[in-house]
Order: sequence, then structure tokens, then C-alpha cells
Amino acid sequence: MPRNRPGALRAAATPGPRTRLVPPPSRIPGLSARTSLAVHRADPSGTTASALRAYRAFLAQPGRRPLHPRASVCPACPGCALDDVREARDVLAGTVPLLPPRPRAELSRTLAALDRRYRLRTLPDPRVDGTEPWWRRRLAEGAEGW
Ligand SMILES: [Zn+2]
Repeated sequence: MPRNRPGALRAAATPGPRTRLVPPPSRIPGLSARTSLAVHRADPSGTTASALRAYRAFLAQPGRRPLHPRASVCPACPGCALDDVREARDVLAGTVPLLPPRPRAELSRTLAALDRRYRLRTLPDPRVDGTEPWWRRRLAEGAEGW
């Protein structure tokens, strides 16, 4: 079957009364609708939303034992790179300056709360190069254990 049948293309290009060509981006959990929209405009790929989800998931692990960031088993693949919470935090750090002032302030507050938990649940690693961002200077585990 051809990938794009002409009829399907026409149907997709003709908005019905209750449909839009581009659906509004979904609200990012934990962020206001305004900030979700600003994040979507700054990063239409959705990587920032995925990174925020990955950061929350890492911190949501139960228990009180220290958490260890882990290298992704396939870091070159966009779907897997965020398995490394440090990559997720890198993405979020890169998005903050792209946002207008109010969404930037909201995302920064959200990150500050998550960062406090990250500092509490991870351990410092003084062996990591001091020029790395602070979230990379934490004791990590290799991906070998997977
Ligand atoms: Zn992969």
C-alpha cells in the first residue's frame, strides 16, 4: 500500500468543523497550560516534555537509599538517551533560556524543587571534572548492570 494515498492526504488537509490541522500540544504534567505551550513552541520535538517526565520518574523511585544516575545503554538513540537522568537534566537546562520570562520562571521553579530532591537522593562524586554541570558531579553507575 502506498504510504500516502491521495484521498487520505485530502482528508487530512481538510479540517472538519471540530478538528484542527495541528492539535494543541498536550499539557505537560506539573506545568501550567501557558508554560506547556511555551515549552512546545521552544521545543516542538517534545524532548523537553520527555526529559521532565524522565527526571520526575528517576526521583520517584521508592525508598531512602541513594539513587545513582546511569548511562543509557544506547545513548545515541533519542528514545533512549533520556534513560540517563543527567541527559534529561541537560535537555531541561537547555530549554530554560529559550522560554519567555514567565514560563521560564515557572519551569525554573519546577526544576529547583526537583533539583533539591536530586541533591538529597544522590551522592557527590568528587572525581568528576568540576567544569561539568553539578547534576553530572554525582555518583553514577555504569550501564553494564543492565
Ligand atoms: Zn535506543
